[in-house]
Amino acid sequence: MDQPFYKDGLDFECTRCSRCCRHDPGYVFLSENDIKKLSKIIGVDRKEFLAGYCKIVNLGGFIRISLIEKSNNDCILWADGGCTVYKSRPLQCMTYPFWSSSLNSREDWDALGRNCPGINRGRHYTAAEIEEKLMLRKKEPLSEG
Ligand code: SF4
Ligand code: SF4
Repeated sequence: MDQPFYKDGLDFECTRCSRCCRHDPGYVFLSENDIKKLSKIIGVDRKEFLAGYCKIVNLGGFIRISLIEKSNNDCILWADGGCTVYKSRPLQCMTYPFWSSSLNSREDWDALGRNCPGINRGRHYTAAEIEEKLMLRKKEPLSEG
């Protein structure tokens, strides 16, 4: 089997610029574990959390739950210069940029750097560490609503 392009590892270090949390609409898809831990931190029950912080997204017949944005397109959980739940942020945010969709090729990886200044700088992640991040997503699939 061919070795992945990241066999010698990749560099990434978040600069906390918040670019991926603000200004543009997008999807932060949640697992059941994300929903549980975020509801608890915010101090609401599951139903209130889904009603006040989430939207249902139909991805070609697959129903998923995503965080919503404020009217200015900042993530609903972003405020005062940063993520208000940073230590317990959703797995999607926690594992960025080591997503399977970003790791198909060197080109896909480098393309992330156009919007994320943390790509190809700072901490070195070995291939084994990257595989661990990918495995986290497999172990914790997205909520189906
Ligand atoms: S855009 Fe990249 S560097 Fe900026 S906050 Fe997001 S992950 Fe961190
Ligand atoms: S949950 Fe936090 S880290 Fe994730 S997009 Fe929202 S503000 Fe950013």
